[in-house]
Amino acid sequence: MTDRKIALVTGAGRGIGRAVALGLAERSFVLAVNYSKSEKAAHEVCAIIRERGGEALPFQGDVSKGEEVKKLFAAVQEELGSPSVLVNNAGITRDGLILRMKDEDWHSVLEANLSSVYYCTREALRSMVRAKWGRIINLASVVAIIGNPGQANYCASKAGVIGLTKSVAREYAARGITVNAIAPGFISSDMTDSLPAEAREALMRQIPAGRAGTPEDVAHVAGFLASPEASYITGQVIAVDGGMTMC
Ligand code: NAP
Repeated sequence: MTDRKIALVTGAGRGIGRAVALGLAERSFVLAVNYSKSEKAAHEVCAIIRERGGEALPFQGDVSKGEEVKKLFAAVQEELGSPSVLVNNAGITRDGLILRMKDEDWHSVLEANLSSVYYCTREALRSMVRAKWGRIINLASVVAIIGNPGQANYCASKAGVIGLTKSVAREYAARGITVNAIAPGFISSDMTDSLPAEAREALMRQIPAGRAGTPEDVAHVAGFLASPEASYITGQVIAVDGGMTMC
């Protein structure tokens, strides 16, 4: 890469976000490593990037809140410059069958997983439009497509992410900005480690590849989508799921 490009990854202290941040740094992006609670982990990610010769800074911010997102983008702009790559990775689960679901669990999942994508995308687009170049990569999920009992809130939020991805992709396709979603299947992380053993085994039986995915499996695809070589790919949902949802 000839010019200095900044990538902002939300929720990049742990799991998939961490792997995506490390992968983008390997591709010479300057990293804005967002975290909400995992301060130490986010600082560690930045330290690893710097040890490898890259540039990275941690930025605290709860991306489920519009006002915090505005402050986050202002801080990134001030410290590093405008992001030309945005990876909307932050996400949570609050599982429960719908009849027992608390309204609070519905709203917190929708805010963390979907409203966050809306807030961050809107902020990021301003400078991307000026630069006539941008890459927005949203973490959806295969369950947005196939559903999952006990995850009505999570599946609805991720289905919303897919609709948002395609709409914004259409709005900005002619301006050098691509918007794509990655739909991971079953990836080893804190999120899936917390599942009960029977649920994990049932999911594993549905994976033709016969193994759980790694955060790096997802990071490789994000790295490609962020690259100049992916300029003609937009509005797509790319499953990274070991064949779980092939049709
Ligand atoms: P994870 O290990 O639980 O990590 C979640 C990350 O999101 C953490 O870094 C957390 O940061 C961040 N986060 C949560 N709420 C936030 C908020 N309000 N503001 C800023 N950051 C926030 O999850 P993961 O497995 O890596 O998942 C990453 C993404 O992939 C999520 O969107 C998830 O839905 C999606 N996904 C995962 C799988 C899978 O199998 N693992 C499958 C499909 C889709 P803090 O610790 O700082 O709060």
